[in-house]
Amino acid sequence: MAAPREFRGHPASPGRAVGPVHRAGEPPAPSGLSGSGAEARAALNNAVNRAVYELRQLSAGADAESAGILDFQIELLLDGELLAPALARIDRGEGAALAFAAALNDQIDAMASQCSESASQCSEANQDDGSEVDPFALRAVDLMDLQHRVLDALAGRIRADFPPGAVYVGRDMPPSVFLAHDWSSGGAIALGAGSTASHVALLARARGVPMVVGLGALPGETGETLLVDGTQGLARLNPEARLLPEARLLAEAGPAAALPRQAPLAPAPHAAAGAAPFSAAAGGGETPLLLANLDTLADLDTLDPAEVDGVGLVRTEFMLTSAAEALSEERHLAVYRRLLEALAGKPVTLRMFDLGGDKALAGLTEGDPAGMLGLRGVRFLLAHPDLARIQARALIRAAAQGPVSVLLPMVTLPAELAAMAALFDEEAARLARQAIEGRRPPLGIMVEVPAAALTLDLFGQAAFFSVGSNDLMQYLAAAARDNPAVAPLYAGAETALFRLLDQICTAARALGRPVSLCGDLAAEPAAAGRLRALGLHGLSVAPRRLPALRAALAATVPPPARGTGFPDPATGQA
Ligand code: PEP
Ligand code: MG
Repeated sequence: MAAPREFRGHPASPGRAVGPVHRAGEPPAPSGLSGSGAEARAALNNAVNRAVYELRQLSAGADAESAGILDFQIELLLDGELLAPALARIDRGEGAALAFAAALNDQIDAMASQCSESASQCSEANQDDGSEVDPFALRAVDLMDLQHRVLDALAGRIRADFPPGAVYVGRDMPPSVFLAHDWSSGGAIALGAGSTASHVALLARARGVPMVVGLGALPGETGETLLVDGTQGLARLNPEARLLPEARLLAEAGPAAALPRQAPLAPAPHAAAGAAPFSAAAGGGETPLLLANLDTLADLDTLDPAEVDGVGLVRTEFMLTSAAEALSEERHLAVYRRLLEALAGKPVTLRMFDLGGDKALAGLTEGDPAGMLGLRGVRFLLAHPDLARIQARALIRAAAQGPVSVLLPMVTLPAELAAMAALFDEEAARLARQAIEGRRPPLGIMVEVPAAALTLDLFGQAAFFSVGSNDLMQYLAAAARDNPAVAPLYAGAETALFRLLDQICTAARALGRPVSLCGDLAAEPAAAGRLRALGLHGLSVAPRRLPALRAALAATVPPPARGTGFPDPATGQA
């Protein structure tokens, strides 16, 4: 048996697990699907050809009735009329996925209006049971189906998943690969590069998947055995037999068991029935509200809604992970409904897509860690209003069904908030015209860009604020959160961050708006006392980190009451 070998790195997510190595391949070269011009035309044509090929395969093996439907879809796809508007959009500079999705949405929309304008137009023949056939509705369903198929083809091959229970070994790990994997059988992550503040590290901590970063070399080849100690920041190749049983037991028990032992959940201080997290009574010197950060629907399995005051952050970009999902209003709505149902009446803060930077969405935007200062968050949404409108419509519809607030990521200037507010107003009015139930939700902003943090007094249009310390630190220190070479500078920005937090809280109080913290700093037990002293309205952390935070808060001395309550963002009343 090969001799054990130890690799030292940095602890990114605690716990220990052992398993066979899965060596990740090099990330595929960017496909340029979000580019424009000839490349985007070619990408769309290829995707359509791929979709036609798939439909022909399906049709060949289908019964006569199904084959008829599939053949109809093939005809639609081959009909130049269907593609013409998308190609025109590409000629105007849009990327292939967005151009195709938006062009089809326009056609689906036009059909819906034709239906509502003239019911007689929509009801041609009678079906066997006497009910009327709606040709526009039928065609719309086909178009939606085609839209998903082509968008999936545009997004390219789904990157191969790896075996359950394996240890992922690579230079870095894209969040989409983490999200597509089933971690319920255990497993771990060992990265040659990577950073403890990256999005994938944040996901691993939230799910309790042991992770080590910054190992330098890549430990092991596919099939060799690797033990990952995410608490110590170590990886041990070919570990000694005596080390295996405990790690194996933990790995077999799944991610939850890989976490250090935590105290059992005590009842939440604000979890009384009907308690409203954004009520005037909370904040201002009281114990901050305890809120949950949710990255995937699977996080709901680790959250007892009775233990929290609500959800302070839903990273929607991790919940809708393909272009087909991201561009489907119905899919958004289904996800938001599921969250609202699970939270049973408690407030849910949904953040709009924070795409760009290291957050990719295949077919819409390729990951580009160097783009952290570029078209990210609300900037990306405003540059792609068709995408923003789809999400806004779903959020407005969800808000009619429960207490939804909407958070905008990476806001720098009040004008960005104003533009988004106008977009929400327009979509709310459009839904009303279409007789679709909706409610315009309150809009708040992430405070994670220093320019916004320093001028919070100018953001009177925001209903609430949520500090994103993960990004605020990186922008304060000019030290990328996913670059291990500057990790000490990133961590060293904490003093600057606390000074700024004080300023942010003072400005928010002056405006009469609640301010919470949803970055990883909120989950640091050692920071609980200082955070409480700031008078933050709420702290939002991954469900697994709630017990430790609650215990840390209970051990802090409450600061003197500041006497200023926070308004309810839904009503604007203090
Ligand atoms: C943050 O920046 O602190 C935050 C909560 O957002 P994300 O980590 O998703 O960028
Ligand atoms: Mg952020």
